[in-house]
Amino acid sequence: MKTRAAVATAPQTDLEIRDVELDAPRADELQVRIVASGVCHTDAIVRDQWYPVPLPSVLGHEGAGIVEAVGSDVQGFKAGDKVVLGPAYCGRCEQCLAGHPMFCVNFYDRNFGGGRADGSKSFSDGSGEISSHFFGQSSFAEHTNVVASGAVKVPDDAPLDLLGPLGCGIMTGSGAVLNVLQPQPGSSVAVFGTGAVGMAGMLAAKAAGATTIIMVDIVPERLEFAKELGATHTVNSKETDPVEAIKEITGGGVEYALDTTGVPPVFAQMTKSLATRGHGALVGAAKLGTEAPFDIGTLLLSGIKISMVVEGDAVPQEFIPRLIALHAAGTFPFDRLTKSYAFEDINQAFADSANGTTLKPIIVF
Ligand code: NAD
Ligand code: ZN
Repeated sequence: MKTRAAVATAPQTDLEIRDVELDAPRADELQVRIVASGVCHTDAIVRDQWYPVPLPSVLGHEGAGIVEAVGSDVQGFKAGDKVVLGPAYCGRCEQCLAGHPMFCVNFYDRNFGGGRADGSKSFSDGSGEISSHFFGQSSFAEHTNVVASGAVKVPDDAPLDLLGPLGCGIMTGSGAVLNVLQPQPGSSVAVFGTGAVGMAGMLAAKAAGATTIIMVDIVPERLEFAKELGATHTVNSKETDPVEAIKEITGGGVEYALDTTGVPPVFAQMTKSLATRGHGALVGAAKLGTEAPFDIGTLLLSGIKISMVVEGDAVPQEFIPRLIALHAAGTFPFDRLTKSYAFEDINQAFADSANGTTLKPIIVF
C-alpha cells in the first residue's frame, strides 16, 4: 500500500517526509495506522548514527495506533484494536522466558537491525529500500508493519494521541524506578537528568512513596518544572557539586539513584552520591565504547549496587496497562511532559527536544 513516512537519510540532517510503499504484513505482524508517535532522544542519536542502524531508515519507536490487518499467526488482536507499541522481542530466549524481554538476546537485531529477522525491509520508494522495524515498529509513518510481540492492546477509550511515549521514554524512567530500584515509601531518590526519562522516573518515585526526591540538571527551567511536578529538592550541577549537595540533603547519601544522562562524569557523580548499600541505575545512552570513571577503591566498602537498565526492564504487556491505570488515578501525570506537533513539523519536534524547550514531543498524524 502507499503511505507517507519520515525518512532519516544522514547524521545531523532533517528527516524527509516521503511517499513510500509499505509491503504486506507478515504472519507474525500487525499492520497499524499510526495515530501518534512520541519522539525520543534515541531517535535523534540513531539518526546521528551513534548506533549503526542502516540509513535511509524510518525511525520512531513510541507509536500508538489502530490495527488495520492481522498476520495469520498472530493471536489476540483484531482489526480496530487500539495498540501502544513497545520494542520487539523474540519471546523464546532465556531472558524472555525468565520475564525480562527487554534483555532478549535478540534485542539488538530485532530493534536496531534495519528490517525483519529475514533481512527484508517493509518500506521502499523510487530510490530503493528503506530500513524498517526500528524497535519493531518504525512509527514515523502513517501506516507501518509491526512485530505483534511488541504491541500492547489498550482499552477502546484510551487516548492514543497521548499514550505512545509509554512504549519507550516513559516506560524507561518509570520502569527503572518501579521494577529495578523499587524504592520503599519514605525513601530517598536522586535523578540525574530532567528530560522525559528522568521526569518519568521522578513521577514513579513519587507514586512509590519516596519522600526525598532530588533532581539534578544543568538547565534551570527544567529544574523549576521538576519542582512543580513534585521534586522535593533540585540541584543545578553547573553551579553546585551534586555529590556534596545530595549528601547534605540526605544526611550521608541517597538510597536510590538514576542516571538518565549517559554522560561519564555524571555516572561517576551518581556512584559517589549513593548511601551505603544504595542502588543506582544507568539508563542514559552513550556511544558504544564510552567508559566512565568508577572508584573501585573507595566504593568497595560502600556495598552499592549498579544496574544497567533497558526499557525499564519491563514486560510492556504487563507494565504499560499499569502506567495507564496510575495515570487515570492521577498519580502519574506524565501528560504534563508532552507537547503535540503535526507530522509536517517533525523536525521542529526534534529541535525542540534537543534544545530543551519540549520534554516529550508527540507527533500527531
Ligand atoms: P533528554 O535529552 O530530554 O534529557 C537528558 C537531560 O540530561 C537533559 O535535561 C539535560 O539537560 C541533562 N543533562 C545533560 N548533561 C548533563 C550533565 N552533565 N549534568 C546534568 N544533567 C545533564 O533525554 P531523554 O529523552 O530524557 O532520554 C534520556 C536518555 O535516556 C537518553 O540518553 C536516551 O537515549 C536514553 N534512553 C535510554 C533508554 C533505555 O532503554 N535505557 C530508553 C529511552 C531513552
Ligand atoms: Zn526511546
